[in-house]
Amino acid sequence: MKYQPVIGLEVHVQLKTDSKIFCGCSTQFGAEPNSQTCPVCLGLPGALPVLNKKVVEFAIKAGLSTNCSITPRSIFARKNYFYPDLPKGYQISQFEDPICQHGWLDITLEGQESKRIGITRIHMEEDAGKLVHADVSALEDGSGVDLNRACTPLLEVVSEPDLRTSDEAVSYLKQLHRIVTWLGICDGNMEEGSFRCDANVSVMPVGSETLGTRAEIKNVNSFKFVRQAIEYEIQRQIDLIDDGGTVVQETRLFDPNSGTTRSMRSKEEAHDYRYFPDPDLVPLVIGDEWVERVRRELPELPEQRQQRFINLLGLPLYDAGVLTASRALADYFEAAIAAGGTAKALGNWIMGEITRTLNDTGTTIEMCPVTPVRLAEMLKLIDNGTISGKIAKTVFDEMWKSGKKPLLIVEEQGLVQVSDIGAIEAVIDEVLTRESGQVAEYRSGKDKLFGFFVGQVMKASKGKANPALVNELLLSKLNG
Ligand code: ADP
Ligand code: MG
Ligand code: ZN
Repeated sequence: MKYQPVIGLEVHVQLKTDSKIFCGCSTQFGAEPNSQTCPVCLGLPGALPVLNKKVVEFAIKAGLSTNCSITPRSIFARKNYFYPDLPKGYQISQFEDPICQHGWLDITLEGQESKRIGITRIHMEEDAGKLVHADVSALEDGSGVDLNRACTPLLEVVSEPDLRTSDEAVSYLKQLHRIVTWLGICDGNMEEGSFRCDANVSVMPVGSETLGTRAEIKNVNSFKFVRQAIEYEIQRQIDLIDDGGTVVQETRLFDPNSGTTRSMRSKEEAHDYRYFPDPDLVPLVIGDEWVERVRRELPELPEQRQQRFINLLGLPLYDAGVLTASRALADYFEAAIAAGGTAKALGNWIMGEITRTLNDTGTTIEMCPVTPVRLAEMLKLIDNGTISGKIAKTVFDEMWKSGKKPLLIVEEQGLVQVSDIGAIEAVIDEVLTRESGQVAEYRSGKDKLFGFFVGQVMKASKGKANPALVNELLLSKLNG
């Protein structure tokens, strides 16, 4: 039988606020265990939560950027369960009437029509603490609890079961990641858990109207693992059904070492959590003015910017996607355009040399030593024939090191391209005399040798001869 996989993602987005969601403690990562706690986030009896307004502001931003409607009156609920990292015995979350509802994101896979993925809801909640297991020096044996992370603000973004392949799932996830980092509400660090995803996976016979039973996979903290986990899980369920078994609803854990998932616990149903409105927090009322103010303050979003790069600058979808991977990169590109560069050439340099050198040196685009203006100046030198594309690489490396203006580097190092016909002809004559054997072969029909001559002439001129002229003059000398 043929099966249709179905995937829905629940993404936890840790918000980049200075303080926690219901108290004033710092959210800084990596501090001494339990140094960032107070009676509220320790869950001491009688301590009362106070909602951080910034969290609401960030949630509205996320909602508007994913086409959600903002709920005028939303409420916080207690999600009750017992675990040592949750001192209150409940997590403050939202259940009925979450802050954002009914949104969507469009994803476009290379060579395909764009597809709309529904977002069921986005709600606000507090994170739990962390268990720290043995072999930590302070612990002889056993486990300790670090509550620094308790009460850190999270958004949970829940998608509809609209995704059909691991490619679609990763594309959706990347899109969401780009939005929240673009908005500056999340640092997007997946390794540190600032952006984490649970993948719900089921399969059903092709053509069926009823969704199959899903497994929820936890602990997939990179795009690569999300793809692996989903693909493994789809195959596991298909094999299970083909062998006459049935999929049970459960929570599974992804193991990055083996690329497999294993059962963790049977899945809780919502009623297991005994959700009820938190009596310590009043309903959250959000007026239209607030929503409209946040809407006005939104930056141009990555999707819009990508479209603008495609429509106005004529960039291919792929290039536009890469150049809008982060807001800083898109800003860099646009600053270089404003300084007079052409889109396609700039795009190629940014996606090529710049990205490569940033990676090699562990630098971010914000710290790039070659400014957008310098890059545009250098491209102008190529355009007006002062330097060749090959020499430009040398100039680029020097700009990276010294930050000097490209023209100055060209002058100082005598890198000006030679476009003087007489001078180039002299070099060509020299090469053809030296390589007389190859010349005879070429003339007897071995056309492929032409590239060899070009190479030799460029080498003899130390890369400075104008390549177009070299081609033209060589052709006429060899064939004339
Ligand atoms: P819970 O919070 O208990 O996991 P939700 O109703 O919030 O349950 O749904 C969680 C996710 O599961 C959603 O992203 C939804 O799209 C997805 N989902 C629901 N049913 C299926 C299914 N049959 N196959 C795959 N994903 C599903
Ligand atoms: Mg879930
Ligand atoms: Zn606190």
